[in-house]
Amino acid sequence: MKKIVGVDILDEEVKEKLTTENIYKIFNNFIIPLISKEEQEFLRELEAFLLKEIEPKINLNNEVYELFPILGKKNYIQRLNSYGGCERCNMRYEMLLAMACSIIDPELDLARVVTGVIFANPLFQFGKSDRISEILNQIVTGKKIGCICITEKYQGSDAVNMKTEVLDKGDYLIVNGEKLYTTNGTVADYFIVYGVSDVSDPRGTMYQLIAEKDYEGIETHRLGIQSIPRVQVGQTIFNSVKIPKENILGTKGVGYNNLFSGLVAERCAIIGSSLGIAWLTAITALIYTNLRTQFNRPIYDFQGVSFPITQLFIELMAATELGFRSASEYNKTIEHDHFNQPKFVKYNASFSSGTKYLASNLAQKISYETQQLCGGIAFTDNLRIDKALEVSKVQEIIGGARNIQLYLVSRAIKNMISLL
Ligand SMILES: Cc1cc2nc3c(=O)[nH]c(=O)nc-3n(C[C@H](O)[C@H](O)[C@H](O)COP(=O)(O)OP(=O)(O)OC[C@H]3O[C@@H](n4cnc5c(N)ncnc54)[C@H](O)[C@@H]3O)c2cc1C
Repeated sequence: MKKIVGVDILDEEVKEKLTTENIYKIFNNFIIPLISKEEQEFLRELEAFLLKEIEPKINLNNEVYELFPILGKKNYIQRLNSYGGCERCNMRYEMLLAMACSIIDPELDLARVVTGVIFANPLFQFGKSDRISEILNQIVTGKKIGCICITEKYQGSDAVNMKTEVLDKGDYLIVNGEKLYTTNGTVADYFIVYGVSDVSDPRGTMYQLIAEKDYEGIETHRLGIQSIPRVQVGQTIFNSVKIPKENILGTKGVGYNNLFSGLVAERCAIIGSSLGIAWLTAITALIYTNLRTQFNRPIYDFQGVSFPITQLFIELMAATELGFRSASEYNKTIEHDHFNQPKFVKYNASFSSGTKYLASNLAQKISYETQQLCGGIAFTDNLRIDKALEVSKVQEIIGGARNIQLYLVSRAIKNMISLL
């Protein structure tokens, strides 16, 4: 892995131990008991691939996108939906992919989840035309990049009341509006865009459409998101963009249902990425504090260091169990085709929201706390803690701010009162 600018101040002895291979060794020790034999085999193959094919090519001066085609060669852009007859594909495999990929490069995983899950999942679920199959093929192989446009300048958490307008012209549709914070937006080839034909009835008139980079009227501008310099996040403007009918994923009103069922998959994938960041920083701290000496002892021998690290590991083990549980619940809902039943949609929405809140908040907490526990070196690019901390902040807001996750859970638990 090529660094940015900083001088190397890490002792050789520490560097030898702080390899990604060793981080995976410890990670596997915690994860293997929680997963099936097939999942264990998948994880080992994936880690070997990431170590051999991705890690040597990571350059912190370059954006993450050049790594997409390498991931695509082995079908590692996503593992949520089966592609090319793949059997090791469901939310649990996707979560393992997100964890292992975040450990090696948290920024890469953030951008991967957006193209591979948040963009591609609606195409797998609702895409019908040949054009959509072609797009999916380009995305899953990592040759092209996808993004999703929900958030607007004046409609953030209150995304349902969006102002982007869709006009049905019979043979085609016209989109007008401005979307913000589009991850991958400025480099994207394809955009899933949500808009409504009547702003006073967004639920009944929301569309879900695919716009393509070369359509006339699409304008993108990069936002200055300093925490993830290797990922492009943009403002996306639709100036009377003409969308052909074959690029409709959700027709009038159906777009609303698709948006909300899609958010569950989105949150589950973000749970995986957040857990990966948390394991990366927790294990880095465990290794480093056992090698770093002060007052003639490894600093881990001081309970002021080892007890907080232990607490973080306990919380992380519990959150990881819960993360796998939310993935299994998602898989069950897909297997039984329950996403058209409001009862199951609501259950999954609050379960995934609660777990996303917990996992992304914990990733931020573990990264922040381990930085303090390791000391100055954790602020340099010699360790991956500071980079992980920055990405964890984004994981907490992407897919809905943490208050919105709490809002969804609070509504679900309030419903229990009606049982009385
Ligand atoms: C780096 C980054 C990447 C992103 N990627 C994408 C993307 O790819 N596609 C996309 O569409 N969007 C994306 N987003 C947008 C993200 O989902 C929104 O930022 C988020 O939904 C919050 O909207 P907002 O920023 O407008 O905040 P606001 O909605 O203005 O909220 C501001 C604050 O008020 C709180 N708040 C709002 N309403 C309530 C309430 N009812 N109860 C309690 N608290 C409340 C929020 O929690 C938040 O703390 C991204 C954002 C960032 C920062």
